[in-house]
Order: sequence, then structure tokens, then C-alpha cells
Amino acid sequence: MADLLVVGGGIVGLLSALEFTDRGCRVTVIDAPARFPPASWAGGGILSPLYAWRYPDAMNLLTVDAPERYRNLITRLRGRAGLVDEDLNESGLWVAVETEQERADAMAWARRWRLPCSAERLSQRMPEATDRDGVWFPTLSNLRNPRILKALRACLSARGVTFEATPAVSVSPRAGGGASVALADGRECRAPRVLISAGMWSPRLLRPLGLDLPLFPSKGEMLLYRLAPGRVPTVLLTEQGYLIPRADGAVLAGSTLKDGDDSHYPTVPGRWALEKMAASLLPALAGERPVSHWAGVRPGCGRDWPYLGEVPGVPGVYAALGHYRNGLVSAPASAALLAALMSGERPHLDPALYALPSSSS
Ligand SMILES: Cc1cc2nc3c(=O)[nH]c(=O)nc-3n(C[C@H](O)[C@H](O)[C@H](O)COP(=O)(O)OP(=O)(O)OC[C@H]3O[C@@H](n4cnc5c(N)ncnc54)[C@H](O)[C@@H]3O)c2cc1C
Repeated sequence: MADLLVVGGGIVGLLSALEFTDRGCRVTVIDAPARFPPASWAGGGILSPLYAWRYPDAMNLLTVDAPERYRNLITRLRGRAGLVDEDLNESGLWVAVETEQERADAMAWARRWRLPCSAERLSQRMPEATDRDGVWFPTLSNLRNPRILKALRACLSARGVTFEATPAVSVSPRAGGGASVALADGRECRAPRVLISAGMWSPRLLRPLGLDLPLFPSKGEMLLYRLAPGRVPTVLLTEQGYLIPRADGAVLAGSTLKDGDDSHYPTVPGRWALEKMAASLLPALAGERPVSHWAGVRPGCGRDWPYLGEVPGVPGVYAALGHYRNGLVSAPASAALLAALMSGERPHLDPALYALPSSSS
């Protein structure tokens, strides 16, 4: 029997598994990505919430040190599955602001969280782009998330973590703590501690345990262009959409947002909308054909920060829910918090901010 079961091997589950192996635990990850495509592969990898100053402290506490956390992780995983330092692209983040108030809020937020920030028109940073007013955050970066996921899986396998690719169908609490997880082929996995980090599918597994939270699927589509490296020098974020440059010249254009939609296929209207948005930010993109187009489904949430903690009334079973649009940026701190809670350690953040409410509260 494993010490610990992790159900769901997206970014949250894999980083949590890494934390548990650091504590010497025997870990099994139940993950069926062929059946349930992870949002973590589809996401853009901007290491900041979009318009971060609009979020409450509970989210900023999970995200503000993400670039540093990922830099340390890449140093640790470098070379696995081809992971290189440039997979964390220190491109900076330029954000369009349309009002004086928005600019003031952005600058105040940067001062509060001790991040460098300056007011800058886009033409100062990227003369080719359609000029706008904005703010520039030089230390905010973007992550090539599929690479980091591959490297994490390789690292965990090398550390003896077992990966089980059969879908989990139900979670039954065990007397004395933890749970049995029934698999689709009739087998069962058991452990005294279980983490449910199954993205948009977590509610399905947790509802029978009495959990009823405002969680929903939220589809997003993305395009990928290939340009000369450096042509888009920074992440460029506007209310209409964003461009994300990778170090090798790939530029992602995203994203659509359709709450309530759990389909995973890209659509023609989605492509048109993204092509139009991309060309409105960088007119030269009107003459480029995207080389790839995909969709993913975010674990949507009715509040602006995730639920992280023990499932009320089910000792030993924990959940990571509702990372929504910010799961990549907030995953390292979420995993650190969960691992501390599940190991009986004092977490680095106040767990009450993230606790799952009992159904009576
Ligand atoms: C288009 C798009 C753009 C995005 N851009 C960004 C961004 O720039 N920055 C950012 O921070 N976030 C971004 N996000 C959000 C981010 O991708 C998600 O919040 C995050 O990936 C959620 O991670 P997760 O581990 O909770 O879930 P997932 O990545 O969805 O992982 C869940 C895993 O659980 C497995 N699973 C589910 N059910 C079962 C089951 N019954 N049995 C076995 N396995 C199961 C699945 O196969 C999957 O591997 C974006 C998302 C999308 C779709």
C-alpha cells in the first residue's frame, strides 16, 4: 500500500507528489490523461494572474513568488525530458491599462508585493505592436508548461512514484482515515492519505462525499504561431486577450473563455476570434498562419482563489479545487501548502484562507 495516493496528475497533483517524495513518502499517482485531458497541458503559462491587482490577497499569496519557485524547480529538474533554463522565459509582462485608476491600482499592487513596475506605452517595448497605454512588470515570466509536466513525470518515476493510468471512478472513506479509490477496471488503491487533484473532474469524485462547492468547467482555446525568436519580446496582456512568447520564437495567442463548457475540441469560431484578437495586438500576425490550435478545460470556481484542504468529515482525504485561470502560477505554493497540511507540518500560508467549508457552514 502507498503512503499517499494522488488522484490527478496535472500540475497541482505532480507538484504535490514531488513534495511528498521529498518527505520520504511512497506515492501512487492515479492519472488518466488520455481519458481526461489535463488543463495543465493546454494552459498558456503566464506566471501571474491576469490583472493580478483585481484579485484578493488569498490568490496573490499563492502566486507572487511563482517565478522564483519555478526557477528553483527548473534548476532541480534541468535536463529531464529535455527541460532547459529557457523553458522559464523571463520575458516580463506588459499589461494594457485603459484608465488612470487601473494604472494607479496596478502600481499600488506592485509596491505592496514588492515587484518592479513602470508605466510604459507599448511602443516603447514593442514598436511593431498596436500602441496602447500600459504597465510593465520586468520580473514576471512565462513557463513552457508541457515541458515542465514531462520533466516532473520523469523525475517522479525516477524517484519510485507509481503511475496508474486507469481512471478512478469513486472514492470511499476508510475507517481510521484515508480512502479506497476504485478504478474503472475493478481494482482498488488504498492509502491513509489521499489527495484529489483531478482538475475539472474533482467535483464528480467528491460530490458523493457530501462536497458541494461552486465549481464548473471553463473551456479555453489557444493558437500557436511560429515567429523569429524575440519578435514578441514580452507577454502582452490586454482585456481582449494575450500573446505569450516562448524563447524559441513560438507565440501563443489566447484565450477564449466559456464557463460551463466541458468540451475539449477546438472550434472554428474560437480560431477566428483568436486570429482577430492576435492581429489586433500585433498587426503582422494577420499575415501569419497559426501552426497549432487546441482547447483545454479549466477547473472553474465561483470565487477568485482555490480551495485547498481536508474534505470536511473525511479525515485523511484532501482536495485541491478550482484553480480556474491561475492553476499554473499558483500550483507550486498550493502544493507546498497541501503537503505541509497532509504531513502535519505548519504551512507557510494560513490554511484557513483556503479551507473547504463544511456543508453546514
Ligand atoms: C486555454 C487555457 C489557458 C490557461 N492559461 C493559464 C496561464 O497562463 N497561467 C495559469 O496559471 N493558468 C492557466 N490556465 C489554467 C491552468 O491550466 C489550470 O488552472 C491548471 O492547469 C489546473 O491544474 P490541475 O492540476 O488542477 O488540473 P488538470 O491539469 O486538469 O489535471 C487534472 C488531472 O486529473 C486527471 N483526472 C481527472 N479525473 C480523473 C479520474 N477520474 N481518474 C484519473 N485521473 C483523472 C486528468 O487526466 C488530469 O491529468 C489556463 C487554462 C487554459 C485551458
